[in-house]
Amino acid sequence: MAFCCICRAHVSEWLPHPNRDKRSPLMAMLGTVGSNLTRYGCPACHCNDRLRHLWLYMDKTGLATRLAGSDVLHLAPEPGLERIIADLEPATYVRGDLNPTQPGHQRLDVESLPFADETFDLAICNHVLEHVNSPMRALHELFRCLRPGGLLIAQTPFAPAMHNTLELHERPDPQTAHLLFGQEDHVRLFGGDITRYFHAAGFEGELLQHTTLLPDFSPTEYGCNEHEPFFVFWKPATHAAERANRTAGEAATVC
Ligand SMILES: [Zn+2]
Repeated sequence: MAFCCICRAHVSEWLPHPNRDKRSPLMAMLGTVGSNLTRYGCPACHCNDRLRHLWLYMDKTGLATRLAGSDVLHLAPEPGLERIIADLEPATYVRGDLNPTQPGHQRLDVESLPFADETFDLAICNHVLEHVNSPMRALHELFRCLRPGGLLIAQTPFAPAMHNTLELHERPDPQTAHLLFGQEDHVRLFGGDITRYFHAAGFEGELLQHTTLLPDFSPTEYGCNEHEPFFVFWKPATHAAERANRTAGEAATVC
């Protein structure tokens, strides 16, 4: 018997991905890490494996208990996760999307966020970086809006077999994007260099593996992809102090 950690239903089996047979052959050849296509949907609440895995990671690492009273930014919110987070009563819970369709969601462009520096304790931005014009601009914005010590969760598909991220000069047509990047509206396929993007924006952290964080959670029973790591990064707590020192140093130079 399997168990959905989102709706807490015991289910007899997981549903396959509806487009399982249309997967780009290149994604299979490269071993791209994303959804598990056979244990994909929950027959009770229809959440997908990525969401179940994300919540298991958040719960297991204690992140869930830190949400109460925190200031949280959630971009492209996953409906099942949004409900859970709201129930945990963050102090503020800002939800937004480039093309919002749900009540309570703001129109937000992750590459140009309308928030002051150091506004949030936690930013959640899953499955966005493969769509944006500039992942570096997006990560710099997320970094800017987080407080020192703040966390970013940003699950993203990637192909660890590739040394570098694959991108074209021009946004490709949908068929080419599906073949090269795995989905019609993706504009890149991250490679094994993906953590360098986060580090270049100032974040610290590494991809955390299922076998490390969730060794007792059977991927079959909990319906997740054991090859999908947890993308959690943090803004160094010393950032504010370093910046203050730098500013003081610059002021002294000017004087
Ligand atoms: Zn469910």
